Amino acid sequence: MKTILVIDDDKELRQALTAALENQGWNVLSASNGDEGLELARNHLPKAILCDLLMPGKNGFRVCSAIRDDDALKYSVLIAMSGKGFEDTKQAAMEAGADEFMVKPLDFGRLCDVLAHIIDQSEVEVPPAAVEPASAPYVRFWGVRGSIPTPGPETVRYGGNTACVEFRGGGEIIILDAGTGIRNLGNALASEFAGRALGLTILITHSHWDHVHGFPFFQPAYDPSNRIRILGFEGTREGLAGVFSAQMESPFFPIGLAQIPSHLSFEELRSMEFTVGNVKVQAAFTNHPGVCVGYRLSVGETSIAYLPDHEPFHRMRNKSVIPDALKDQTRQFALAEDEKIARFLDGTDVLILDAQFDSDEYANHTGWGHSSVDDAVELALRSKVKKLFLFHHDPSHNDTKIDQMVLYARSVVKKSGKSLDVEAAQEGQKCECVPAKR
Ligand SMILES: [Zn+2]
Ligand SMILES: [Zn+2]
Repeated sequence: MKTILVIDDDKELRQALTAALENQGWNVLSASNGDEGLELARNHLPKAILCDLLMPGKNGFRVCSAIRDDDALKYSVLIAMSGKGFEDTKQAAMEAGADEFMVKPLDFGRLCDVLAHIIDQSEVEVPPAAVEPASAPYVRFWGVRGSIPTPGPETVRYGGNTACVEFRGGGEIIILDAGTGIRNLGNALASEFAGRALGLTILITHSHWDHVHGFPFFQPAYDPSNRIRILGFEGTREGLAGVFSAQMESPFFPIGLAQIPSHLSFEELRSMEFTVGNVKVQAAFTNHPGVCVGYRLSVGETSIAYLPDHEPFHRMRNKSVIPDALKDQTRQFALAEDEKIARFLDGTDVLILDAQFDSDEYANHTGWGHSSVDDAVELALRSKVKKLFLFHHDPSHNDTKIDQMVLYARSVVKKSGKSLDVEAAQEGQKCECVPAKR
């Protein structure tokens, strides 16, 4: 959704503009002073910013200059507004970097025309569907490791790149997380679609390094004909765009986010259910530090779910120090939260799930926000999943250890008397999503 930021100390005007712009389909952010406005702008990289010129504290001229001095905001269109219609006020606003100047009371019709013009100029044609809508959905693993990349002879079979999974289905290419695996995916896409514009969607589960730090090396982002949407939930401190921009600041990377030539858009999700083309997407908050979600993607009768970072609620609550009087209540609460996750996954054909630890390791890592292989199998069985991929492999696990974990997981399934295919996710592996026969 296109985002606009309104900076004005006049509360009534902010409220009226918010309501009117929301009616026009904008996601509206608002700030009552310049400093707050600048912070929101840097965190959200809005498409347009409406800034009052006369405010207590940092005045609007200085806010406009600060916005224009910030490389990450160079594509945000800046509209200055003032109660004074002097020519010199307009000139000073334009000199401070405003693209447009409007006198209050605002003519909302003209504002809409200005915004429509901006959108016309900045919108590019959405490239056609990259994949055949009718072909069977599939996932391919490009990064399966948790925490930190682990290259080397010991991990060569399962792979050492961090989280990145490609989903193709319903005519869409959807990329789940942008760990270092996204680099090889980008290279593969660039050669497969050479000379053709690509429309891609990247769904981010959360902003920990192992889920975002491959993005600066994603080749399709450097092709001006490509359009890339990055969707995720706002973090505890930073917006999604702020996280991607911060990891590309000059101390860390030579190219800033604003210099990336493809048409990039960041959309902070407000809803737990939405669509990407023909793909239905559902999200659920998982039990992991900060704001973290899992996604379930469905095309027709087939569905896959991706929960790379999750610890069962009841396990963690068992470990915390809870007053006796609250113990029962806490356990009931945690079990109910676990049940919500189980319902979210119910009947998935393919489940890609955090199974970082074996049970001994888990005993020493309770409360780290990751699952044991036992709990991963239990959850998949409870949700009547057809195929489970153990995912987010621990950086200390070599290929032999992961083989052992798969065999162990299969023995747990066998003991249960139920049916479930278990594999460990492996870089390069492709899995077609066949609807489960039930
Ligand atoms: Zn992770
Ligand atoms: Zn994490």
